[in-house]
Amino acid sequence: MVYLYDQYLLKAFQATEKATTKERAMHDEERIVYNTAEDQEWADLLSPARRKIIVGAALTATGLTAGNIVAAGQEVIAPGGSSFKPIVPPPDVGKSPWGYETYKEPTPRPRSVRPGEENGLPKTPRPYTDIKSYHAHFYFDDDTYEKAALVRRWAAERFPVELGNWNLEPRGPHVTPSFYFGFTNDLLPIIVPWLQLNSLGLTILLHPNTDDPRADHLYYTLWVNRSQPVNAYNMPKQASVEKIFPNTRPAVKLET
Ligand code: ZN
Repeated sequence: MVYLYDQYLLKAFQATEKATTKERAMHDEERIVYNTAEDQEWADLLSPARRKIIVGAALTATGLTAGNIVAAGQEVIAPGGSSFKPIVPPPDVGKSPWGYETYKEPTPRPRSVRPGEENGLPKTPRPYTDIKSYHAHFYFDDDTYEKAALVRRWAAERFPVELGNWNLEPRGPHVTPSFYFGFTNDLLPIIVPWLQLNSLGLTILLHPNTDDPRADHLYYTLWVNRSQPVNAYNMPKQASVEKIFPNTRPAVKLET
């Protein structure tokens, strides 16, 4: 079967390839893009054997050479020729404030900060009815603010939500510009798929509101697209649950 297929390919090739051997050679030649002298120099330089030498040279320059890394008299290859010398800032003068015994410190086990797991795994699941409402936080920057504005308008036109104002700087646990809307639990099965299809690529944090704002932002989250850091470590572990007061006037029928 393979043989027959090869025969077929050969015939097809012979039928379509009318060029003479000389012309074919020319065509093949045209497909090859040769390295410039400079490209080739870099390719040679970055070959594994050469890299070893460069690393050795860099270590020498920073005073980290272990006796066996660079043999005496070994040629140093570097961009710009053998006269090239890397510029290394001078070392700081002084002493480390941490002392010089830190490597002897025992490895500590941090206390669990996940809610309900302070003393090992929880005995029972947490009731889902502890969630009283949700927030959707939309993150953007100067490249994506128009997308944020569009999703914000679309959402406000369609859903009865509590829409916050624009935060052009980090605010609360949110480390980039953002806006948010809050919504009641009954909207969750609509808003989640709607955001999945209409995020325009923005990073969106969906978090529930329970009586533990820190866990709401750090451990109970859903993300649309990529996640990003949330600076909620110092948020209270106990607080009154956030209430939602819808302030939009949706007038556009939801697309279905
Ligand atoms: Zn929130």
